[in-house]
Amino acid sequence: MKIEILMRPVAAVLIAAFFIFPVAGIAQKAAKPEIKQLQGPQSPRIGFIIHGGAGVIRRGSLSPEREKQYRDKLAEVVMAGYKALQEGKTSLDAVEIAIRMMEDDPLFNAGKGAVFNADGKNELDASIMNGKDLSAGAVAGVHHVKNPITLARAVMEKSPHVMMIGDGAEKFAKEQGVELVDEKYFFTQSRWDSLQRVKKEEEEKKKKDAGEKPAAPPAKPSVAEMPASQEPQNRFGTVGAVALDKYGNIAAGTSTGGMTNKKFGRVGDSPIIGAGTYANNATCGVSGTGWGEYFIRLGVARDISSLMEYRAMPIQAAADLVIHTKLQNAGGDGGVIAMDKFGNMAISFNSEGMYRAYIDKDGKPVVKIYKD
Ligand code: ASP
Repeated sequence: MKIEILMRPVAAVLIAAFFIFPVAGIAQKAAKPEIKQLQGPQSPRIGFIIHGGAGVIRRGSLSPEREKQYRDKLAEVVMAGYKALQEGKTSLDAVEIAIRMMEDDPLFNAGKGAVFNADGKNELDASIMNGKDLSAGAVAGVHHVKNPITLARAVMEKSPHVMMIGDGAEKFAKEQGVELVDEKYFFTQSRWDSLQRVKKEEEEKKKKDAGEKPAAPPAKPSVAEMPASQEPQNRFGTVGAVALDKYGNIAAGTSTGGMTNKKFGRVGDSPIIGAGTYANNATCGVSGTGWGEYFIRLGVARDISSLMEYRAMPIQAAADLVIHTKLQNAGGDGGVIAMDKFGNMAISFNSEGMYRAYIDKDGKPVVKIYKD
C-alpha cells in the first residue's frame, strides 16, 4: 500500500514527461509558428487555408513575373473558397471550389499542368474527407478526369466506397456525369520538358553506375542520391485545401499529378486517407504535399490528428512533431497545412518552400512561398 502511494508521484512525473518532452524537442527544431493562434473557441468562426505544393523553391529561382502569377492565383483561390464559406456554403464546397480552380490552372501539378509519368502519361490522384462523419472519397491513376477532386467527392457521396482507381473510376465518372476530357488536355510543354530532363539524367546516371560500381549499396539514399523523379524540384505543385465552415465542420482535400517520371501505376499519398489527407471535427483537417512514399509510411495526416486526439497537443505542435521530427528523421520531405475546430491554422514544412495562402483574422488573404 505504502509503495503504491510512493509510486504515485513517480508515475505523475513519467506521465508529464511523456507529454512534455516531445513538445520540448520540437521547440528546438521547428520554426516559429507562422500564424498567430486563437486563444479559444470563437463562434461562428470560418477558416480557409490552401497549398500549391512544397519543394525547392529558392528565392530568386522564380522570375518576378512567374512569382506574381503564383501569388495572384493563390490569393484568388483562397478568397474564392473563403467567400463560399461566408455565403454559407459547406467546408466540402469550399475545398472543392478551391481545388478545382488550381486543377484548372497549369501553374500547379494537378489537373491541367500535371507532371508526366515514365510512360509520358498524366496519372492523376485526389481525395477529400468530411470531418463531420469521417466520410471520405478518393481516386487514383485516372487519365481523363478534368477535375479529380470532383470525382473523389462523388465517390464519397454517391458510392458506398472510399477509393476507386483507373478505368473503373473513369467508368464511375461517366455514370455520375463528371467531366471527362481527352488525355491531350493535360499536356503542358514545361512538364513535358521536365520529363525529358529527368529521363536524360536517369540515363546518364545509369551509364555512370554501370562504369563504376560502388562497393556496397548505401543504406538509405540521401537527397543527392535519390532518383531524379523524387527530387523535390521535380514534383512540387500538388494542391490542397482545408476549410472550417460556419456549421463547425472541417473538410480537407488534396489533388496531384504525382511525381515526374513516376513508374506507371504508382500511387502517392495524396489520395490515401490518413497519409495526404485527413479530417475529423474532433481534431483537425490536414492536407499534405511532399515525397509521397514517406507520407504513406508515416501516415502523416492521421498522425497529426492522433497527436491531438491522444496527447491533446495543439495543432502547430502536432504538425511540427510529425514534419520536423518524424518525417525529417525518416529522410522524407514536404509539408502540411492544417486547421483545428476553432479555426487555428498550422503550416509546417521541412522543404525549401511551400506555396501557401490563408485568410487572416481580419478576413485578408496572406500568400507566402518561401521559408520566411
Ligand atoms: N505528394 C505527392 C506525391 O507523392 C507529390 C507532391 O506533393 O508534390 O504524389
